[in-house]
Amino acid sequence: NSQSAAAIVFLALKAASKVINEMSEELGRLDAIAGDGDHGIGMQRGITAAVAAAKEARVARTGVGTLLKAAGDAWSDRAGGTSGALWGIILHNLGDALGDKITPDASAVAVGIASALRDVINRGKAQLGDKTLVDVLHPFSAALTTTASQGLSIVDSWAIATDIANEAAQATKNLRPRIGRARPHAEQSLGTPDPGAISLALIIRAIEKTLNH
Ligand code: ADP
Ligand code: MG
Ligand code: MG
Repeated sequence: NSQSAAAIVFLALKAASKVINEMSEELGRLDAIAGDGDHGIGMQRGITAAVAAAKEARVARTGVGTLLKAAGDAWSDRAGGTSGALWGIILHNLGDALGDKITPDASAVAVGIASALRDVINRGKAQLGDKTLVDVLHPFSAALTTTASQGLSIVDSWAIATDIANEAAQATKNLRPRIGRARPHAEQSLGTPDPGAISLALIIRAIEKTLNH
């Protein structure tokens, strides 16, 4: 692909925003089962702000790292909610790891996602199995690290990790929430996947489609 990393990431954010807008009601419905029902609205608000900030970064011709950090900061400022703060952390960490000068390769992306996972856990204190987006981010990060170390391209590495992220998101339906707003309603939540896990997997899939174009 001949486009700059910043251009590709901007397209990926727009694709992510499209799928979140399409799925907003469903994400709200999932969150209403054991949470407060605002996950679709919160994700829409956050990603819309992120795309607007990324657009400004494109006009200013910043590198990919600066673009991602601006997008993440706008997301957490505007989204509200637990997931908004965590999404800000994810994009900001990825931006820090990629930086502006390099042409990112699969291992730079893997390092960025691993750093995002670390910070999300530091901030939110969720463990694996607590029924949060960590249950997707953790296996996704592990798959990126493994495939990058095998020398796969970003496109191939992301594609393999995307399938793993989707399976992990679906598998959260078997978990009981042990943290966050859904915890007091653990039994109602059984049989339904975690909304934050599902939205993360949707965004990962939208990015995969962008990378394949
Ligand atoms: P809120 O719970 O503040 O209303 P959202 O509804 O936007 O925020 O997001 C809920 C999602 O956030 C959950 O489905 C879960 O995936 C994620 N989440 C909640 N608490 C945590 C946490 N401590 N660590 C990681 N993810 C969390
Ligand atoms: Mg909520
Ligand atoms: Mg809320």
